[in-house]
Amino acid sequence: MLNVMPTVAVGAMGGTIAMEHSTPTGASTPALQAHDLVDAVPGLGDIVKLRVENICNKPSPSIDVADVVQALNFARRAVATGAVGVVLTHGTDTLEETAYLLDLLWDEAAPIVMTGAMRSATAAGAEGPANLLAAVMTAVSPRAGGLGVLTCLNDTVHLASRVQKTSSMAVEAFDSPGFGPVGRLVESEFRLLWGVVSPRPEALPAPRVGPVNVALLECGLGDDGRLVRAARDAGFEGIVISGLGVGHVSVAVADAISDAIEAGVIVVVGSRTARGGTAMNLYGYPGSEVDLLRRGAVMAGDLSPRKARLLLHTMLSAGHSPEAIRARFALG
Ligand code: ASP
Repeated sequence: MLNVMPTVAVGAMGGTIAMEHSTPTGASTPALQAHDLVDAVPGLGDIVKLRVENICNKPSPSIDVADVVQALNFARRAVATGAVGVVLTHGTDTLEETAYLLDLLWDEAAPIVMTGAMRSATAAGAEGPANLLAAVMTAVSPRAGGLGVLTCLNDTVHLASRVQKTSSMAVEAFDSPGFGPVGRLVESEFRLLWGVVSPRPEALPAPRVGPVNVALLECGLGDDGRLVRAARDAGFEGIVISGLGVGHVSVAVADAISDAIEAGVIVVVGSRTARGGTAMNLYGYPGSEVDLLRRGAVMAGDLSPRKARLLLHTMLSAGHSPEAIRARFALG
């Protein structure tokens, strides 16, 4: 029990945590509002003062930049009016992307903690209420301050910049490959597992509302570069390549990347592997990271290609130069 009741703002954005199904084996669809979610956690109002709002109620594959900006504004208003932390409930499918995009834009010490559920509210063993409680307990913890945006599911807390949905089915759906979780809930208390030493990069302005103007393309065996050329011709301002190994592509893709860069498209190359990220100086053959850097590509480092897409979109939207984009990606 906390001595003084802190205020936590809970914004609901949809997802399985807010879905129901009518028969035990039926398909889930959106149903619950923010107040239903907090009402499902017994006694929550006895330990924190709650401010509750519906931001949207969408399955997370349909969350867009406008929804994320709305969540950002909700969080800013909440902290400006005394909330010590903000909790957002969200679908798990794009949770890592909304978390990361918010993390790029968030300049407050108070944490934003995102949660969701793998089982719908009417499923046997629904874990949504436990996840919401754990997220609230993380949001009120002074140890979570300054960590930016966090995700909290299954009593496990991850940094937005590192977290990935690594299982499409399991309740333990999230991990930070190569890094591990940053914290855990122990007896309802947030415990940091390791200290975060690198300072958070300066917050960026919110991107344009509308489609993300960066194509994300995964390379594979036998790739002839047609998709890179198609993305360039379709008018994308940026292309993120989910590359092989430490950031490699075939010679044909490398040539298509050169053409795209010459046409003014910013190309970022990440790794399609789960951990390890990209290199800068390991291999020198055509299509390797050294060759791609020489052609003018930017390496994504530890950022997953899907997060690199959001960083590139946000920086392009703010009118940053290719040099500034390269420097920001070097921060990880
Ligand atoms: N499967 C998803 C979830 O767990 C659905 C969504 O992302 O909205 O929430």
